[in-house]
Amino acid sequence: MTEIKHHLTDELLMSYAAGNLPEAFNLVVATHISLCDECRARLGAFEALGGSVIDQVEGCAVSDECLTATLRLIEDGPTEEIRPQVTRQGILPAPLVDYIGGSLDDVKWRSLGMGVKQAILPTSKEASVRLLHIPGGTAMPDHGHNGMELTLVLQGAFQDDGDRFGPGDIEIADEALEHTPVAEPGQDCICLAATDAKLKFNAFLPKLAQPFFRI
Ligand code: ZN
Ligand code: ZN
Repeated sequence: MTEIKHHLTDELLMSYAAGNLPEAFNLVVATHISLCDECRARLGAFEALGGSVIDQVEGCAVSDECLTATLRLIEDGPTEEIRPQVTRQGILPAPLVDYIGGSLDDVKWRSLGMGVKQAILPTSKEASVRLLHIPGGTAMPDHGHNGMELTLVLQGAFQDDGDRFGPGDIEIADEALEHTPVAEPGQDCICLAATDAKLKFNAFLPKLAQPFFRI
């Protein structure tokens, strides 16, 4: 694995540790963590911190509502949590294997035009996650965001506003960012991208196609 330059934020790692992320974001975060020693170490620190906070509050008086809510959380458990694993099957990080049901050869791609293909992975509805296959040298349509978008590179690389995102790198986009990621010439770029709201396309054609591709 080449050196990872773009990492998860503390906020995302803490939300992941607390089990507060939608399943689609959980999958992207778990996949990055499985590839990234640095974020795995930071996650360990947040998990230890979470544990010590719980130790300290033990014995304090809590309101009935708080107790009920906490007990409910414990009962419900982290049903959607995906534990990072370091083993990999080919270029496919372990957290992704179950979702794809095998290797990248088993992915059922659907064409988005311009040679770009996607495969939406099954997750809970608050957010969606898809694999994107972008031919080398191809630009994604210029777009903004109505929420958060996490994009993790699995193969190849893309350029975005002067930054390069290679294998293992994660790009975090929000309402403030408008961008046109471009796959580097050469190897096709395969990414895992999660969003919790529709993208805002500027051009008419992608806007028209949007409902069909659930982007
Ligand atoms: Zn990282
Ligand atoms: Zn975007």
